[in-house]
Amino acid sequence: MKTIEKNKFKINLDRKQGFLLDMDGVLYKGESMIPGAKEFISYLQKNSVPHLFLTNNSRPTPRDIAYKLTKKIGIKVSEESIYTSAMSTAHFLSSQVKNGSAFVLGEGGLQKALYDVGYSINEQDPDYVVVGESRVLTLEVIEKAIDLIIAGAKLIATNLDPSPKVKGWPKPGTGAVIKMLEEASGKKCLCLGKPSPILMHDARKYLGLRSEQTVMVGDTMETDIIGGISMGYKTILVLTGATHQENLHNYPYTPHYISDSVKDLLPKETEVFKKDKDLKLTGVA
Ligand SMILES: [Mg+2]
Repeated sequence: MKTIEKNKFKINLDRKQGFLLDMDGVLYKGESMIPGAKEFISYLQKNSVPHLFLTNNSRPTPRDIAYKLTKKIGIKVSEESIYTSAMSTAHFLSSQVKNGSAFVLGEGGLQKALYDVGYSINEQDPDYVVVGESRVLTLEVIEKAIDLIIAGAKLIATNLDPSPKVKGWPKPGTGAVIKMLEEASGKKCLCLGKPSPILMHDARKYLGLRSEQTVMVGDTMETDIIGGISMGYKTILVLTGATHQENLHNYPYTPHYISDSVKDLLPKETEVFKKDKDLKLTGVA
């Protein structure tokens, strides 16, 4: 079988380029930073390279994520540089139904994003049933959601990310919950997380870039890479997360570039490495 080879992408400061950066599997894995992620973020900041951190996880708020990153890497990351699927969802719903209401299967990040655009929580006759990550989902809530969807509420997913399907994984994932709701209600959802063009477009506009100037960096073929390709962005798959190089032939599309990690995207001898002796790796191997 033909192996899909790695190929090099290096940041070129002479070119106007900006980066949409997936986080889990690219910058960190669980609670541990991926080696080189700190140098990469530092390089982008010091050279004023436009960038936005994207996540399909609707549970944390941008402030939660900024705090976590800042604490872990010792570099100030602003909440304005973070865009979540909860924000994309709230933005889109607000453009469809102004000051609407939603029944939410999700946690703080999703609820706050909806409040921020003028939405109310409604358990009787909401415009939407919105599903995101939740650690406290009960069968009672699922049954309520099914009834509301059958009664006319529109079903919205903040992501349909594939579950890793490994023993001990602590939650079924939003995609699995959505499949259950779709089957039980006979209605189909609209997904507003990656690879939705709605989120991918919003993120590029936020950075003020043109499509050909936009580079999507991610570890997941089904979201980051196909999402970027569909929008005409350059795509870089990093092999620090969900995708293994030997599995790439299973996909009917390939990323533009494949890199071992974000560290490999930096020019060889950067000023970051020369000047900052304290930038030692803090993550796991
Ligand atoms: Mg990821």
